[in-house]
Amino acid sequence: MKKSLFNWVKNSKVFYLKDLFAYAVAVLLIAVLAVIFLILPNTNNTSGFKVELDGKAVLTYSFSTGDYEVFNDFVNFVTIEEVDDGITFNVKNSEGFNKIYISKTEKTAEIVDSDCSVKKDCVHSPKIKDSGAIVCAPHKLKLFPLSDNGMGEPITG
Ligand SMILES: [Zn+2]
Repeated sequence: MKKSLFNWVKNSKVFYLKDLFAYAVAVLLIAVLAVIFLILPNTNNTSGFKVELDGKAVLTYSFSTGDYEVFNDFVNFVTIEEVDDGITFNVKNSEGFNKIYISKTEKTAEIVDSDCSVKKDCVHSPKIKDSGAIVCAPHKLKLFPLSDNGMGEPITG
């Protein structure tokens, strides 16, 4: 009885050391993952954003050039306001307007105001970075990221 208890203690000690090693590996892994997940959002590689109305290109903004382009059909419908850390585009259409804010520091885009509906789903949509899109259904407006390889641009008719 005594001996088996001794063996149990001895063996459990070995297991304990193995466990300790496993814990160390787990902690290290968690630390590495934490670093990846904390750093990745900051290494957001959005090259810019694009706005479409009913499938037609309205404007693009590029972070690499720090410049925007408003397409011909819409030059009279877009007002632009540059602020300290970003740029605001007010896009008018036959139904109303959408005010879009692009942050140069965070490289994010969002719709900050609209008169589309009582609920204003687009205004309440979370900011987008290098994926996803914000759609204002009543205005047929779509805001989405440009990507370096062009894969971020959906095909529209
Ligand atoms: Zn909307």
